[in-house]
Formats: sequence, structure tokens, C-alpha cells
Amino acid sequence: MNKRFILTAEGVTKSFDGFKAINDLNFYLDEGELRTIIGPNGAGKSTFLDLITGRTRPDEGQIEFKGTPVIKKTEYQIYRMGIGRKFQTPSVYSDHTVYENILLGLKGSRGVFGAIFGRVTPAQNDQIHHVLEIINLKDKAQVRAGTLAHGQKQWLEIGMLIAQDPELMLVDEPAAGMTDEETARTGELLLSLAGKHTIIVIEHDMTFVRQLANRVTVLHQGSILREGSLDEVQNDERVIEVYLGKKKHDAIHPQH
Ligand code: ADP
Ligand code: MG
Repeated sequence: MNKRFILTAEGVTKSFDGFKAINDLNFYLDEGELRTIIGPNGAGKSTFLDLITGRTRPDEGQIEFKGTPVIKKTEYQIYRMGIGRKFQTPSVYSDHTVYENILLGLKGSRGVFGAIFGRVTPAQNDQIHHVLEIINLKDKAQVRAGTLAHGQKQWLEIGMLIAQDPELMLVDEPAAGMTDEETARTGELLLSLAGKHTIIVIEHDMTFVRQLANRVTVLHQGSILREGSLDEVQNDERVIEVYLGKKKHDAIHPQH
């Protein structure tokens, strides 16, 4: 096997007060892949992203990005290596405009002050407008980010990620709090980015996961329970068993 993985995690364990949020996790991601991670609340999905991005350090195990170990690096070093993240709760700069937020995401920008008060080159301005078009916030460019609707904040944070242009995008629950229509648009957006970027998407909404039509990893108690197509994992007895408790069958086989 001489496949080149862009990201590998091997034997990774992380405990919080004795509770193993991540438990001997082994995960392999191909370059250019769009992968969805699903799993019940508390399965360790966000913690896994914390470990990849250097926000949290593992107790054991190794994580490598393009063959380079990341677990001793700082968050900023990992960011510079080409890993970008959208948090589960949108973390936009509320007091800055939508335009300024995208500017802050642009590759090379460092620090809010320098990025906003430094000069914006015509090339940067073009890039910002291009991103605003992709995320459908062109007419909100001069609006304060804090005043946006929740779904628009989610898009703005995805826009900051696009502006940052990382090789690996980690997108935590992008469709949370969105209407069905916004969710479908978000799916289209991620599909349009796939191939140009390697992407991990964490999501609960099965309609959305189906729209992405890609390889799915089911995380449960900090380990991988099953990987495969959505149909394969939805029909796995163990997945049905653990997934979302009592309403498990309905939850993983939504009616709409
Ligand atoms: P998911 O994203 O799959 O819903 P999380 O990764 O957020 O799950 O959480 C997994 C478990 O780890 C939860 O029980 C959570 O309370 C715990 N956990 C996550 N981060 C921390 C932390 N920084 N300190 C203490 N416990 C944490
Ligand atoms: Mg989470």
C-alpha cells in the first residue's frame, strides 16, 4: 500500500478527568477527499478537530499532516501548515464588517489590527469580493457581522476559511441552525470546494450528509465504529444500535 494520506491519526487517545473523549483513534484521509464525520453528541467529533488543530494535545498517539507530526506544534504553526477550521459555534468578529471578516481570513493576514488598518491591495479586494459572491453575502459587505442571521454567520465563517485557502478544511456542523434551503446551499458550497481542498465535515443532518454523497466515518465513544458510504453505515446494525438512542432508526433514516 503506497497511498499518500494527507492526514493520519494513529492510536490517538485524549482523556478529560479520566473520561476518554478520544479512545485509540485511527483515522486516514486521502488528499482531495471530502469526508463526513457523524456520531452522537459527545462522540468526540469536535475534540478530534481540537487535536488536529493543536487546540488540545493528545495523551497518546500520533497525528501527521502530509507526513509531518503536528502534536507538538502550536495552533498558529498548524494553521501555517495549511489546516483551517470552522468552529461549531460561528466565531466571526462581530464588531467588524462582513468585508473586514473576509479580509481577516485572507492568507497572510495576521492580527486583527494589522489586517484591518493595513492597506488592502486591489488583488485582495478582488479576492474578498469573489469570496463574498461564493457565500452569497455580497450585499452585506459593509454590515456588522454581529447583526447577521445565524445561517449567514455560518456562511461568513466558511467564507473566512475560503479566504484563508487552507489545504485541509475542517468544518464543524456548518448546517446547524440553518433552514433546509440554507442547508442545501451549504452542501452545494462544500461540494464546489471539494477537490480543490481536502475537507472534513462534521454534521448531524442526514439529508445534508446524503447530499454530499461521500465517504462517511461514524465516531462513537472516541473511536471509529464504521466507515463507508452513507447507505452502508445507515444499514450497519451497530450504527443503528448506538446512533442517537431510542429514536435511533428514525434519526439515521429521516423521513424527508
Ligand atoms: P461531539 O463534538 O462529538 O459532540 P465533543 O468532542 O465536543 O463531542 O466532546 C466529547 C466529550 O469530551 C464530551 O463528553 C465533552 O464533554 C468532553 N470534552 C470535550 N472538550 C473538553 C474539554 N476541553 N474539557 C473537558 N471535557 C471536554
Ligand atoms: Mg461537536
